[in-house]
Amino acid sequence: MAKDYYDVLGVDRQADDATIKKAYRKLAMKYHPDRNPDNKEAEEKFKEIGEAYEVLSDPDKRAAYDRMGHDAFKNGGAGGPGTGGFGGFSDPMDIFAQMFGGMGGFERASRHHADPRQPGSDLRYDLDLTLEEAAHGCDKTLEIERLVPCDACKGTGSKDGTAGFKTCPTCQGSGVITRQNGFFVQQSTCPTCRGAGQTISNPCPKCRGEGRVHKDVPITLHVPAGVDTGTKLRSSGNGDAGLHGGETGDLYVFIEVKPHDIFAREGKDLTCSMPVPFIDAALGGVLTVPTLDGASKLKLPAGTTSGTIFRVRGKGMPSLKGSGRGDLMVEVSVETPSGLNSKQKQALEDFGKTLSASNQPEVQAFAKRAAKYMK
Ligand SMILES: [Zn+2]
Ligand SMILES: [Zn+2]
Repeated sequence: MAKDYYDVLGVDRQADDATIKKAYRKLAMKYHPDRNPDNKEAEEKFKEIGEAYEVLSDPDKRAAYDRMGHDAFKNGGAGGPGTGGFGGFSDPMDIFAQMFGGMGGFERASRHHADPRQPGSDLRYDLDLTLEEAAHGCDKTLEIERLVPCDACKGTGSKDGTAGFKTCPTCQGSGVITRQNGFFVQQSTCPTCRGAGQTISNPCPKCRGEGRVHKDVPITLHVPAGVDTGTKLRSSGNGDAGLHGGETGDLYVFIEVKPHDIFAREGKDLTCSMPVPFIDAALGGVLTVPTLDGASKLKLPAGTTSGTIFRVRGKGMPSLKGSGRGDLMVEVSVETPSGLNSKQKQALEDFGKTLSASNQPEVQAFAKRAAKYMK
């Protein structure tokens, strides 16, 4: 029993186009096959929401559906449910690609021209790095599930290894099938030739004539020093192999740098918030600060106050392009001692009696400015 399209997208029947689009995007991202490899349920769900969106995003189809429900799409001819395609609907990947405008792994090559050789898709891989890895650069081995040329037919798709093509009998070479469905004309990618318009005369049994097969491939990637969240690295020729020996796509690696325990990043600079004991802040001395390259020492002037920022030159992040490194900014906060015992309290009270206004100039200055509000 086909599910109600509005229920599938989780929207009500009065939902406007923007709401429908938004609901679809959210669900399609969630159930996208790239994110749910080998998950039949997710795949079904993805098809279902693609189908629902295809109908509800099209005013004519939506009106027909509102009037007649699923009956509006019955008697679709050759491509009824279960025979190729997705129950007579276009490939949800196509809808998805249209919506996302060809982003990384979601890009699917346009299938609507009659060339048997079609380029493979670009793929997307999200890579998490530590700040240290981003700072120093690293080599990563990524396990990528991609389409690679079929070794049985050397990527031609043809059993005898020579690509012989004939016009696709299903679509007569157009790559699309068109159906009159009640009030509207429906076009979808030809399931036989996948839009190529031609099929292999003598298909290779291993890849069923595609010239490519799924495989988990380890890919070694060098991550240069200085990458940041949002950096996109291209690994040329590591996307999907093309159809029938078409050009191979690229792999795009999207970097995300994980939050760090101690350092935060601001462009090329790093920041670090560091508490210092109030005795040290008062007396001054040498402050040992952490950096990505180990300890570094800086001069702490006597009378340092909270919020003072010290710059440690060259201890920030390297630049991805060009040379030089950013700086490390250490912001100190003076920690007021707490949990004092009576002896310590006494010592501080005795010490306090020795203080004059000039020892605490800000307290003094504020008291003057604020005096008229304290009457
Ligand atoms: Zn065809
Ligand atoms: Zn093959």
